[in-house]
Amino acid sequence: MLTKLFINLCILITFISISNNFFINKNLSKNPPISLKILIGIYAGLLGILLILFNISITSPVITNFSFFPILLCALYEGFLSSIVASLLISTFHIIYFGTSNASTTAALISLLIGIGFSIINSARISIKRKWIYCTIYLLILNYTSIFIFVKDPIDIFKTFITYSIITLIMLYFIFKLIEYLSKSFKLYKKLKSEASIDFLTGLNNVRQFNHMFTIASQQAIRNKEYMSLLFLDIDHFKKINDTFGHSAGDIVLRDLAVILNRSCRVYDIVSRNGGEEFSILLLNCSANRALEVAERIRETIENNNFYISDKTFINITISIGISTYPNITNNIDKLLEHADIALYEAKGTGRNKTILYNSTRYLANVE
Ligand code: GH3
Ligand code: MG
Ligand code: MG
Repeated sequence: MLTKLFINLCILITFISISNNFFINKNLSKNPPISLKILIGIYAGLLGILLILFNISITSPVITNFSFFPILLCALYEGFLSSIVASLLISTFHIIYFGTSNASTTAALISLLIGIGFSIINSARISIKRKWIYCTIYLLILNYTSIFIFVKDPIDIFKTFITYSIITLIMLYFIFKLIEYLSKSFKLYKKLKSEASIDFLTGLNNVRQFNHMFTIASQQAIRNKEYMSLLFLDIDHFKKINDTFGHSAGDIVLRDLAVILNRSCRVYDIVSRNGGEEFSILLLNCSANRALEVAERIRETIENNNFYISDKTFINITISIGISTYPNITNNIDKLLEHADIALYEAKGTGRNKTILYNSTRYLANVE
């Protein structure tokens, strides 16, 4: 029996690890199409059939199997449809493989009742841990009933009852813990992944993500022969705001500014915090004239915005913006960042609170 238990455990662990993405962590999508749900149900049903083939003899003539696991996983992590498909497949297999004896039709009926019952339990607004507990109780009640129906000798009933309970509860506990562990490590992975690309304070792209997106956008602009404009934005005299109102007031300003920048762009433009009080906006398929309009609109919005640092106190800030555009002004896309920076520097040097579009001839004139 121990060998069979071990084989069942290995099958389940392999299946759960392979299907980790779409069962436990719903990595596919929040609401997969019906065809996919049915496919998942069939996949789970086939696993159930495999587990039936590796059934465990408890006391002669009682045998048990773990085909309820795929139905349970479908019900709790995938939904009603997948779970019903899996239980239907498993029930049908019972009848085809074992014939229409009383024991086999009861097993088929139990599989169906498990599919329905687990799905109903899953619809309750309770924690996942409670769902597992209620499903376990429901499963035990169903199987205890069938033990009482088919085993007549009281000693056999007792032996079957104890053995069945022990192996089922151990397996349920082990699989629950495995799923809990996989779920936690996936959440941690997602958190770390997001922290690696998102700026903690503002929720915008961080500089690493900006560089990544810039490379992708550059290739796209070259391939599609499209304009691409880059805005570098820097808050004027931000140090003074920190010194006068405190660092946390400065943080509020940065957060509110990020909201304004996001609101001022189209969804596919790339807004990032490139460091401290420096931001950037990558305007895809956007000419220099259009970029100037956008930048001026943003600059004016920020100039006129009241940044509330407490219920009653607000401060006003200004920003300077440098723009560079590919390909008509900057024909080498790799120079786009450098040119936007030069334009920003010029905006700072010539009075701040202004937008400057990079212009190679003017810049060269200034250098001279
Ligand atoms: P300029 O007009 O030339 O840009 O002057 P500035 O004072 O804005 O520029 P400077 O580079 O001298 O100062 C930037 C300040 O931004 C200094 C730093 O304390 C502040 N800063 C950077 N990161 C953060 C942050 O995360 N939170 C807050 N509150 N302040 C920050
Ligand atoms: Mg600044
Ligand atoms: Mg700065």
